[in-house]
Amino acid sequence: MQTPLPDYLAHVIEACDIDNSGHLADYIPELANANPNRLALAMSTVDGEIYSVGDDDIEFTIQSMSKPFAYAYVLQQLGIETVLNKVGVEPSGEAFNEISLGNDRRPKNPMINSGAITTHSLIPIKDDLESAEILRQFMSALAGRELRFDDAVYESEVKTAYRNLSIGYMLRTVGILETDPVDIVNGYIRQCSILVTVKDLVRMGSVLANGGVDPKTGKRLLNRSVVRQVLSVMMSCGMYDAAGDWLSTVGIPAKSGVAGGILGVLPGQVSIAAFSPKLDEHGNSVRGIDILERLSRDMGLHLMEGTPSAQTIVQSHYRTGKDASLSVYVLRGVLKFTEAEMLLRILQAEPMDQSTIVIDLTQISIIHDVGKRMFLEGIDRLIDDGHTLLLVDPEQRLDHARTHKDRTLHVYQDIEDLIAQLKEAEK
Ligand code: GLU
Repeated sequence: MQTPLPDYLAHVIEACDIDNSGHLADYIPELANANPNRLALAMSTVDGEIYSVGDDDIEFTIQSMSKPFAYAYVLQQLGIETVLNKVGVEPSGEAFNEISLGNDRRPKNPMINSGAITTHSLIPIKDDLESAEILRQFMSALAGRELRFDDAVYESEVKTAYRNLSIGYMLRTVGILETDPVDIVNGYIRQCSILVTVKDLVRMGSVLANGGVDPKTGKRLLNRSVVRQVLSVMMSCGMYDAAGDWLSTVGIPAKSGVAGGILGVLPGQVSIAAFSPKLDEHGNSVRGIDILERLSRDMGLHLMEGTPSAQTIVQSHYRTGKDASLSVYVLRGVLKFTEAEMLLRILQAEPMDQSTIVIDLTQISIIHDVGKRMFLEGIDRLIDDGHTLLLVDPEQRLDHARTHKDRTLHVYQDIEDLIAQLKEAEK
């Protein structure tokens, strides 16, 4: 069977496609040339499985979504204290490009431009590389491929960067920037011009979701404390002056960029990236917001909904019976979105044949609504593939034991008895 996740993601972007409101960012002239109809969505699970739909191979500039990664880089190099001396962590409630400082004369946080320009100034230069090149290499390591700069977008923004330059001069005046503000602002703008796809973004996000370890390679790229700091600031300050609204409706730490991308990272669970260039009045992608709202709601991803559960769901899998014709899965733990996705992915490997599959839910402690829906959907697909499905569920947590296609499931009380019965029948 095929896991239903790609179908679900395709359904989400189809539903969001009809909203044509918003406008292209035009204060960077090159961005006004973007195709406004582009729409893409990708998701990476915490163990690094990537699903994507729509314009998922189209590159666009990372813009402000580079800010959490630049922040992560300097935190990792310099330590949290040193960085906090220069940039605060308070939500600003202001537009991203506000020319303002906190009362202590530090930029309020690293997600607005004053804080991001300061963060950029802290990149320790090594091997004679330019600061933006250092970040490009760092982000390429997170993305698992060589990312490149968009020179046209960079040139176009540098030519019209009056506002960011005023922020730079203000920061230099109060001593927050210690060298030439023009060089620093140019470096920051170059950092914003790195090209990514939604698949790159979710891969980069999966390192954050996974506590700093790249789930694809098992390599630790960031300290756990750095990841916690970055995600906290994304949660409180990532969506500019819409941050409070975002926390209550979506509840996923996120960062948007004016090219139309939004990256959300839910620790221990998933990273999600959406791309569509038309923006709302806060500078956030209109369809991107709609997509993340839907995913959060449908999949129970709001951060305040509960702590991530243990992720191992299949305690054991074995084959038994004549010619190993019975495939038995013993499940354990909590069945929420993450675990259901993993289970469906494992079940996907079942060969398309008439064999019998036994799934034992006895040791499942909680079945979350989304876990149940996904599980039943998977069962329907296995039956469609020709399998016979037998469940062991002594507490009868699957309401009425019926699938979405209204099939009655065969539910048993005890795994040992069931296997014994099946073997007897084979004789
Ligand atoms: N390069 C853009 C700027 O500094 C990034 C803004 C954004 O993506 O929100 O104005």
